Amino acid sequence: MKVCKFGGSSLANAEQIRKVCDIMLSDPDRRVMVVSAPGKRVSEDIKVTDLLIALANAIISGYDGERELSDIMIRFSDIASELELQTDILVRIEQDLRSRMCSDCSNSLKFMDSMKAAGEDNCAKLVADYLNSIGKMAAYFDPRESGMLLSEEFGNAQVMPETYERLSELSKYQGIVVFPGFFGYTPGGEVVTFSRGGSDITGSILAAALEAQIYENWTDVDSVYSVNPNLIKDPHPVSEITYDEMRELAYAGFSVLHEESLTPAYRKGIPVNIRNTNNPSARGTYIVNHRVNFDGIVTGIAGAKGFCVLNMSKYLMNREVGFALKVLQILADEHIPFEHMPSGIDSISIVMRQSVFSPEREKRVVRRLINELAMEKISVDRNLAIVMIVGEAMARTVGVTARAANSLSKAGVNLEIINQGSSEISVMFGVREEYCNYAVKELYKEFFLR
Ligand code: ASP
Repeated sequence: MKVCKFGGSSLANAEQIRKVCDIMLSDPDRRVMVVSAPGKRVSEDIKVTDLLIALANAIISGYDGERELSDIMIRFSDIASELELQTDILVRIEQDLRSRMCSDCSNSLKFMDSMKAAGEDNCAKLVADYLNSIGKMAAYFDPRESGMLLSEEFGNAQVMPETYERLSELSKYQGIVVFPGFFGYTPGGEVVTFSRGGSDITGSILAAALEAQIYENWTDVDSVYSVNPNLIKDPHPVSEITYDEMRELAYAGFSVLHEESLTPAYRKGIPVNIRNTNNPSARGTYIVNHRVNFDGIVTGIAGAKGFCVLNMSKYLMNREVGFALKVLQILADEHIPFEHMPSGIDSISIVMRQSVFSPEREKRVVRRLINELAMEKISVDRNLAIVMIVGEAMARTVGVTARAANSLSKAGVNLEIINQGSSEISVMFGVREEYCNYAVKELYKEFFLR
């Protein structure tokens, strides 16, 4: 069985919904579809989820929300009338939205999640109705009854372990299961959503629960590209990539799938296939556990801004047992997560996201490093970017780092940090933020155009 997730652009209007249903019906193994809320029809459009957030905010601020409600109803009624659905679906959608609007909004996070979930929930009902209207066996499945149990972290829920077994029951249904993405229920019965873009996570959870042969993630690009297409025109497409490579690239700014969405499929070894709803004949990109096809040494290059580094040194640091532990304890006491920790004999550098290291926190950490650990030299370098080259084949190739460093040095980019992950599938360079895009382009030239 194949589990298919369709993103917002694949459900933005009636024409897209027809395409999505054709895709489902063209392969009998496609038995489960996870749907997002209708997304943007054109770039200046507003996603239904954002319209719902505006509606929730209006109500929280004490307005009646009628104007915002009508914007949402227009989106659904355009779709329903073009799909020639009976008007009762619109009556049901409006009733559903009004009942959510009337619920208690004193806990704004809880209220917000219940409103946000309405986009996927009603879209799934509408798609199931459409499939029935053209004579196909399909049904909407309620995440509450199906057992999509999530932690009580509003806007950022995590799946509970018992969910998988409960959802496996869905395989008993003989028609097409239409399942809304993005939300589930807490053990106390409250609606709770994942973070934004979280329908990808729902799809991955269902694929894992049903032990699917593949998790197809349908979006609006033909494949994942080796570099951000906004930086390089027509970049090299990636036909196959491992979970580990994808994770490293996602970390440095690749934003194809929701970061957390890979875990459930990965744990079960289910391949993910990124496909294009607007071009279903394209093979897309396969995300797999082990690769067999290698197009080149490097799979992808990415860059992300907003990092800083705390450098510290102390003579004979290497002789002090437990020294790094004490440094990290100070960071932990301040609730500062860190990203990388390159070290020398007498020095340690801690790379962090700038957003977690405010000047106040910096002052406290520096004071403790001096007072408690007698650190001799400390400096903080802000406004750095991380540029990564990633590829499983790099681990077996001599001289990749040298080639990358050489090309950056020839281009006049100063390397503030170099760090190779222990798995040897990635090398990270820290550069000044203003060089980030330039460095990515130079590395792309070096590894893909020479
Ligand atoms: N509709 C939600 C969002 O826009 C979830 C999703 O599409 O995955 O974030």
